[in-house]
Amino acid sequence: MQSADVVIIGGGIVGSSIAYHLTAAGCRNVLVLERETHTGKGSTGKSMGGVRAQFSTPVNIQMSLYSIPFYSAFDDLMGHPAGYRPQGYLFMATSDAHMDYLRANYARQVQLGLKTVRLLSGDEIRAMYPQLRGDDIIGGSFCSTDGFVDPYSAMTGFMAKAVGNGAKLQRDCEVTGIDVDADGIAAVETTKGKIATRIAVNAAGAWAAGVAKFVGIDLPVEPLRRMLVPTEPFDEFPHTAPMIIDMSTGFHFRPEGRGFLLAWNDAEETPGFKLNFEPSFIEKILIHAADRVPCFDHVEINPKRAWAGLYEMTPDHHPIIGPAPGVRGLFFANGFSGHGVMHAPATGKLTADLILKGTSEIIDDPRAFALERFAEGRMIHETAVL
Ligand SMILES: Cc1cc2nc3c(=O)[nH]c(=O)nc-3n(C[C@H](O)[C@H](O)[C@H](O)COP(=O)(O)OP(=O)(O)OC[C@H]3O[C@@H](n4cnc5c(N)ncnc54)[C@H](O)[C@@H]3O)c2cc1C
Repeated sequence: MQSADVVIIGGGIVGSSIAYHLTAAGCRNVLVLERETHTGKGSTGKSMGGVRAQFSTPVNIQMSLYSIPFYSAFDDLMGHPAGYRPQGYLFMATSDAHMDYLRANYARQVQLGLKTVRLLSGDEIRAMYPQLRGDDIIGGSFCSTDGFVDPYSAMTGFMAKAVGNGAKLQRDCEVTGIDVDADGIAAVETTKGKIATRIAVNAAGAWAAGVAKFVGIDLPVEPLRRMLVPTEPFDEFPHTAPMIIDMSTGFHFRPEGRGFLLAWNDAEETPGFKLNFEPSFIEKILIHAADRVPCFDHVEINPKRAWAGLYEMTPDHHPIIGPAPGVRGLFFANGFSGHGVMHAPATGKLTADLILKGTSEIIDDPRAFALERFAEGRMIHETAVL
């Protein structure tokens, strides 16, 4: 029977980062199992690639304080580009409540050591981007080290480096069960046979709850469709722009290629494995787009280039990272609630630390993301979710 020291279930950006961090720490016999014939077909290949430290909870800010410098150094570390572009994130407030919220977040971010974030007045934002409808903008916050990465390239870079360090990637191999004995995890069952292991990591993205079910655990991770609309080439807004977020509607956009990538989270969307792009979404998003960026009223859209993917949502919009209660040797790295690309470096490090050392220094409380928090009533609510 094939065996491995650690089996990682899922070869997206999270599984790839965990494989890299484990092998970088000296763990060689790491096997990544991916059910598709190509990696990146889950949420990673559908992502908008935004990376930001502008969060509201200390633990999410700390995850970003590890991840963003990591992405900045990624090309040298991995010998492969992550496509990190520090063009920033600009949150724009149109109400006192939103501005108070940004001020409180700013104070927390600065206190934790973020040096590149600043608050802006409405006039400053109007001067930066006169193309925006700015009459109701009262201020905002901008962080210059926030920006974008190329999620597929970052995933590939992590995996290539992990394989160079001795890890193995097996594609077209679906995990169909997990065997447990008196000592905990004993093997994973796959469509290609059984693999003996004492440690398995659930990195199955939006499908993580199904994997947890193999050992009878109810993992509160739900798939939620998100749709993105790329524009055709468009030059009436600067391509050096950051991710710009209109807090009044949640509409946000960023430059992509010669056009822009438009996003808006439809509050009417319901959980489920829905991967089809809904053409009626284009009309809905363009109303918000043209309202905030009047020149977008004549932007061209090719519906065939738009797409849908899945967020992996948890009840408090924070991930579940750490050992599975009651099943020795099983670890979770799931439920990123829309932040799995930006937090992949920190997740890889935290998961590898928890597996190899049982603790980690990258966040103040390495147990903060434990599954038990839901039963114990210590959820950590993140409100800065896009
Ligand atoms: C439209 C959209 C926009 C987004 N924008 C951003 C953003 O701007 N910034 C950001 O940080 N995040 C963003 N996200 C979220 C981000 O893409 C995800 O959080 C991240 O990709 C999760 O990575 P993952 O490796 O956990 O999951 P995935 O990439 O989904 O990988 C999981 C893998 O597990 C495999 N798998 C599942 N079950 C099994 C099994 N039983 N056996 C073997 N393999 C299995 C799947 O095939 C898949 O390849 C966005 C997501 C979407 C959909």
